[in-house]
Amino acid sequence: MTAKTDILIVGGGLNGPALALALASGGVSVTVIDSRPAPARATLGFDGRAYALAIASKRLLTVLGVWPLVADRSQPILQIKTSDGRAGSGPSPFFLTFDAAEIEEGPMGFMIEDRHLYAAFLAAMAENPHITVISGETVVAQTTTATEAEVTLASGKTLRARLLIGCDGRSSGTAARAGITRTGWSYGQTALVTAIAHEKPHHGIAHQFFMPAGPLAILPLPGGYRSSIVWSQTDANASAITALPDAQYLAALRPRFGDFLGAISLAGARFSYPLNLTLANSFIAERLALVGDAAHGVHPIAGQGLNLGLRDVAALAQVLVIAARRGEDLGAADVLARYQRWRRFDSTSLALGMDAVNHLFSNDNPILRVGRDLGLAAVNALPALRRGLIRQAAGLTGDLPRLLAGQAL
Ligand SMILES: Cc1cc2nc3c(=O)[nH]c(=O)nc-3n(C[C@H](O)[C@H](O)[C@H](O)COP(=O)(O)OP(=O)(O)OC[C@H]3O[C@@H](n4cnc5c(N)ncnc54)[C@H](O)[C@@H]3O)c2cc1C
Repeated sequence: MTAKTDILIVGGGLNGPALALALASGGVSVTVIDSRPAPARATLGFDGRAYALAIASKRLLTVLGVWPLVADRSQPILQIKTSDGRAGSGPSPFFLTFDAAEIEEGPMGFMIEDRHLYAAFLAAMAENPHITVISGETVVAQTTTATEAEVTLASGKTLRARLLIGCDGRSSGTAARAGITRTGWSYGQTALVTAIAHEKPHHGIAHQFFMPAGPLAILPLPGGYRSSIVWSQTDANASAITALPDAQYLAALRPRFGDFLGAISLAGARFSYPLNLTLANSFIAERLALVGDAAHGVHPIAGQGLNLGLRDVAALAQVLVIAARRGEDLGAADVLARYQRWRRFDSTSLALGMDAVNHLFSNDNPILRVGRDLGLAAVNALPALRRGLIRQAAGLTGDLPRLLAGQAL
């Protein structure tokens, strides 16, 4: 049996559902296929995974009706403090502080747990008559022709559409099956991710300590006394730390952490993610487009991965909805080329920028350390530059698609 829809999205992680909702808001019918059974992720207890969403991403979620479902479970980020540090000697005295009071848009971002965001996406998709969700099914094959795309599921079922979109993550099978090659490298680092409870309140402040083995991010969660930890370590250190029981894991974390939040304890499961850069050499192919991590898997150093994906979502949805209104073929090469022109340069330069920051900070070279400290201090002393960086991190700069400006399609 073959079913037909306007657009097929492979991958129902976070970018897939966001894109489905964005397209549906413009009247385009979409089918989303995901390997995982949907309830598996939505009904999890707190698993330690959380995202820092930029203001622009929040605007998109608001227009799509998702933000109201998670607003009271989000934590505004009021300040970001960045410093160079070394285990044992703690952070250097040269802090770079970004304060939400410096821009008129309010908090520069919001922390939200993965399970709440995912559940909100599922609820919003379930209400939308233009969206069909197929979960617990894996795409195993695909073909495209000049007129349509077809995928085959592991169950043997086939689906056809005018356009196939890969939202299937860093090791995108959709990209591989289309012959799209990738550029990238491993960082030799692994991110250790968990949540901690702490004695003193975080006051909505996010911290980024640059350590020789990799950055440590401490990101505030709702309630005031819990934070999400993204602790990047060399692969060798990370596997040794991962093998430790909880008490020793905390003992290893404490000297990096310092005592500014008082006593700490684990408040979530411990995860580890090997870190690599992986950029698709094209974001489009015949009747096919890539979005999110499938197009660009980046270092989590600035918490920009999902934000970058949501920029793709906003741009591609705008291109396709306008094309549909004009009566154009949604999978036509010139329509897809508009998306690639809009997004490829921006995401590649941001990915390489984060790569450069990681290389500059993840070492113990004394000359670079002095340079870094002076650089942080210099930026801190220049309010206009600081405001520019805040606006950039909040996703408020560049050629913004309508959804990121808070406007419907
Ligand atoms: C440690 C760490 C911290 C991070 N912190 C932040 C942060 O603070 N802020 C931020 O913006 N980003 C952050 N990110 C990045 C963010 O997690 C990713 O960018 C985002 O989750 C990517 O979403 P996605 O939907 O593109 O891909 P994924 O979430 O990888 O989803 C892909 C989906 O595709 C499905 N799939 C794959 N193959 C198939 C198939 N053949 N058939 C059917 N389904 C398939 C999978 O089941 C999965 O559900 C972080 C990442 C890491 C590793």
